[in-house]
Amino acid sequence: MEKVATDWRDLESRVFMQTGKRQPPVLVRGEGSRVWDEDGKAYVDFFAGVAVTSLGHSDPGLAAVLADQAATLIQVSNVFYTVPQLQLAELLVNNSCLDRVYFSNSGAEANEAAIKLARKWGGLKKNGAFEIITALDSFHGRTLTTITASGTDAYKDPFAPLPPGFVHVPYNDVDALRSAITDDTCAVLLEPIQGEGGVNVPDDGYLPAVRRLCDERNVLLILDEVQTGIGRCGALFAYELAGIEPDIMTLAKGIASGVPLGAVLSKEHCSVFEPGDHGSTYGGNPLACRAGYEVVSRIIDECIPEKVAEDAQHVEQRLHSMEDRFEIVSGHRGKGLLWAVALSRVEAPAVVAKCLGKGLIVNNVRPDAVRLCPALNISRENLDEGLDILEGVLAEVSNG
Ligand SMILES: *Cc1c(COP(=O)(O)O)cnc(C)c1O
Repeated sequence: MEKVATDWRDLESRVFMQTGKRQPPVLVRGEGSRVWDEDGKAYVDFFAGVAVTSLGHSDPGLAAVLADQAATLIQVSNVFYTVPQLQLAELLVNNSCLDRVYFSNSGAEANEAAIKLARKWGGLKKNGAFEIITALDSFHGRTLTTITASGTDAYKDPFAPLPPGFVHVPYNDVDALRSAITDDTCAVLLEPIQGEGGVNVPDDGYLPAVRRLCDERNVLLILDEVQTGIGRCGALFAYELAGIEPDIMTLAKGIASGVPLGAVLSKEHCSVFEPGDHGSTYGGNPLACRAGYEVVSRIIDECIPEKVAEDAQHVEQRLHSMEDRFEIVSGHRGKGLLWAVALSRVEAPAVVAKCLGKGLIVNNVRPDAVRLCPALNISRENLDEGLDILEGVLAEVSNG
């Protein structure tokens, strides 16, 4: 039988809900930091499925544990004890400042759980305090409550009415936060570095000052480490870099290198959920947790956060040099393997398209900023290969 090529873009336009704009390639296969499209064209992947595939594509170890677990036990629900879930929970507790874990299937769900936990704590321990302060330009997910928590109006305007109880303040502004805290405040919810907001790195003193403020005012500090956690910023968790400890932390994205998994973690003092308070049919299933255990244990055992911190110096050096030479580059910001190249004009979509043409996948995280977030185990060779392509494109765009 003759094979008839399918026009996947046309099919998508007919049968798929149009919730976002896609890049043209139809990606069919990946290996390490490289992916291939249906025409066989290869790309260096500096996007990693939105900072998710921390061990790269088609990692043989991850593929093997997934196949083994799929042939053993995939789902039985949280009505029963399952081993991979408890092993991953113990691994996370032993390697973080938090004491307890509950698993979800995504970052938004992890944040929903964190918000519920903080509100229950406020109800029990702070006279019914329910308000949560978050930052402008933050991103916490796409459910109704997490778009409300997020600091981007475009994500929420069409969906009113939104749940009450969220207050927004500018990021990296301790005074604004201090003024916003009231007796009704139960928690402050922040990203250690704002990912979707454009890789916004706060001043070194910001998170320590927020921690002190939360302690003084008896307010929980929730860190959304969905993007920054599990080695992405050059430490297992970004809170370590700030020298502070959150009361509650959420994880997802890189935790299982592409297998859907999220987690909310909390300190014992605010771990107030009781039976019946929360649940998830798939959350913490053996398949996802076995993957999470493989990924997190390897990131720890192979000292990947240290490797990422070394890569960061190299990336920063190269971005600095591009900034010196090309007028289109107005700055760079980031930590570990999470960077944004700031452009002097609103040309990030054009830079992304040109990079794709030359075989590099990057993302226009803002109209004037290009994000780089490759796999954490990317080789120096692949890193330089991608940076060379980016440099060529920025040179070209600079010359008009
Ligand atoms: C991606 C992201 C989320 C949402 O995660 P989903 O898995 O898409 O629900 C939440 N918070 C931050 C900081 C993120 O980067």
